[in-house]
Amino acid sequence: MGSQTLARLGIRTHHQPCAACRMLRRRCDSNCILAPYFPGDEPDKFAGVHKVFGASNVIKLIQMVEETNREDAVKALVYEARARLRDPVYGSTGTIFQLQKMVQDLKLQLKSTNARVLELQQQKDQLLGIFMNVDHLDVLSSVDHGPSFSLDYEDSMASNLLIGKPH
Ligand SMILES: [Zn+2]
Repeated sequence: MGSQTLARLGIRTHHQPCAACRMLRRRCDSNCILAPYFPGDEPDKFAGVHKVFGASNVIKLIQMVEETNREDAVKALVYEARARLRDPVYGSTGTIFQLQKMVQDLKLQLKSTNARVLELQQQKDQLLGIFMNVDHLDVLSSVDHGPSFSLDYEDSMASNLLIGKPH
């Protein structure tokens, strides 16, 4: 049975007041501007914004924005109110300052890491250059001394054979 049918029958349906109306002790009807954003089962949300901004300012702020943006606006107000209650000096600005400091620190860290990467890259290039030169020299030396080495080798083989075979 729908609520309209119940109303026609003269039976009052029990309307659950929103958290705002309950706190403000006013009648909450289907036109209540606060009801969609402050459900009765979340009283803390309205308590915070009421304490920090005041109920009439909250209503004004909600009325100022388009209906499609109201849910986001209320979320922001609730967040700001909680931050202000937690930190009476800086409120949500405290969090912004902290994050800005973190960004600054991370930027510095990134800068020094990039410098270190560049330094290591240069070291790697230098080492690669040295290895390339060593390889190059080896090739040259084996070409230059190749025949004499093989002669030496044959000589030593011959002397080994001589040693190995006593007279
Ligand atoms: Zn209400």
